[in-house]
Amino acid sequence: MTHIDVLNELAKRRGFFFSANDSYGGLAGFYAYGPMGAALKSNIENSWRTKFVIGEGHFEISTPTISPSPVFKASGHLDGFDDLLISCSTCEISYRADHLLESQHTLLESPDVSVKEFKKLLSKYSLTCPSCKNTLDDSTLQEFNLMFATKVGPGSQTPGYLRPETAQGIFVEFPRLSDYARGKLPFGVAQIGTSYRNEISPRKGLTRLREFTQAELELFIHPTDLGPEINPTTTKLPLYSVSQQESNGNIEFVTPTEAIDQNIIENRWLAYYLELSANWYDSIGIDLTRFRYRQHMPNELAHYASDCWDAEVEIDGDWIEITGFAHRGNYDLSKHNTHSSADFTMFIPLDEPQEKLQTNLNPDMGYFGPTFGKLTPEILSKIDEMASEDSTIFDSPELSVEIDGTTHSILSECLHPTTEKVTVTGEHILPHVIEPSFGIDRIIYSILAHTFHEDIVDGEARSLLSLPSSISPIFVGVFPLLTRDDLDVVAQDIASNLRTSGLSVLYDESGSIGKRYRRQDEVGTPFCVTVDHQYFEDQTVTLRERNSALQIRVDVDSLSALLENLRNGSSAFFDL
Ligand code: AMP
Repeated sequence: MTHIDVLNELAKRRGFFFSANDSYGGLAGFYAYGPMGAALKSNIENSWRTKFVIGEGHFEISTPTISPSPVFKASGHLDGFDDLLISCSTCEISYRADHLLESQHTLLESPDVSVKEFKKLLSKYSLTCPSCKNTLDDSTLQEFNLMFATKVGPGSQTPGYLRPETAQGIFVEFPRLSDYARGKLPFGVAQIGTSYRNEISPRKGLTRLREFTQAELELFIHPTDLGPEINPTTTKLPLYSVSQQESNGNIEFVTPTEAIDQNIIENRWLAYYLELSANWYDSIGIDLTRFRYRQHMPNELAHYASDCWDAEVEIDGDWIEITGFAHRGNYDLSKHNTHSSADFTMFIPLDEPQEKLQTNLNPDMGYFGPTFGKLTPEILSKIDEMASEDSTIFDSPELSVEIDGTTHSILSECLHPTTEKVTVTGEHILPHVIEPSFGIDRIIYSILAHTFHEDIVDGEARSLLSLPSSISPIFVGVFPLLTRDDLDVVAQDIASNLRTSGLSVLYDESGSIGKRYRRQDEVGTPFCVTVDHQYFEDQTVTLRERNSALQIRVDVDSLSALLENLRNGSSAFFDL
């Protein structure tokens, strides 16, 4: 069994996670969290909330998991949220084409996902069906939309989709959210919740699910905002930049300020979040020696994003993305601004009113309608935006406007721009967005993989999760040495007192004391308290620390305060 097989077995046996609906044969890509996993997940979400929402002074919201289809038409998910599917004509099994290619060949770069480009790759590299070994035919290649469709209500049902990311809920509600922020930039809005993607081949435990939890933060900034001054720190970020990837180079360890000064990261907001997140990952048990930030290569970068970095962790030799950090420009807000009836711009007052020449477009609809059809409003709004930045754009006979990665040429003479002098007190802008998008399930899986160890204690092998106290599902196990002589009565009393002070406690009296310690080590409980006969002489109990298996004697009266200090970090076990 590999390390990860042992971990998966432990996760199932001890109630961290297991495939859901097993009694009915299961359904790939859906997992249930058991008692340990659900507690761990909730602790990680709370830790994220404390760091990225409360600690940064942002808002958290909660929006529906189903939205009507126009939302996803506007966001681009209906037309472009696809993976490539290839099917075997003999055994009729379908696969995700890029994953199959990567697993069967050593490629120099990650494959492009368009059918046309992929067909070119398939003329160089052939693919065989992993099940029947038949050679796969490129005529079965097709784009497969990852969204789950649904119908809402009876009668003439409204088509809707389960959200493929929590972020859209934030973008769609932006007009109200900007009011709550009192029209001031920057401001951040976060959401923790489930997302759904009909993945072609769910795999590797919690890493590719069809229902998963995301914690996303959308930071809305002024388009000219290049980010905060970064305080020089000693934190070294493990960066794997485009240039290092292109030259088959190594991860570079640089501080956020060095990364900015050396132009490895262009936007200071991204550098800021990479540092904040590295500190958070460290605090929740990710091993930073098995961690890197990898920059997206130009062919992976979404057309609207100017830069994107993935936090990746190493598990059993594979690098797995746990978080994406993207500069999304104004893509999302501009889409909802054009497709919906609401105004997604923000009015930013100027310090002093200014006289300005304003350009008004008088488009020739006889040209625009037949040439650009439904794209016309979006094209005109882009030209408006361009003209407000540079009034000389109409000097050239043709203008280039990019919509969703496609460039359109527009005849300037069909725009008939006029100018007028106006007094401007402020400007309507579409804020830009910096988005850190965390996948909670992959983070849980990575923490378990990175904190799982096997060692020998008192001559016996044990499995151990060295989870940080702040996130462990159980904080303290309480045991009577024996279930007689009133030791169990005292231990139950202690357990109940500790619960009253807010600690997560597990009382256990079954099996030998050694077995009980092993059970808690395996689920990552940092401390165990055992009541033995000495309690009746001096009112002390033993307190055992998980990693070292060392024990000390502690006064029962001070136990609760002591454990509370150990939990909040104001005391350390080895100082006691
Ligand atoms: P993305 O929007 O694809 O950049 O995803 C953001 C984050 O969500 C990723 O970094 C993952 O941690 C997580 N994620 C995306 N897809 C899945 C999935 N199918 N299963 C589990 N987590 C996912």
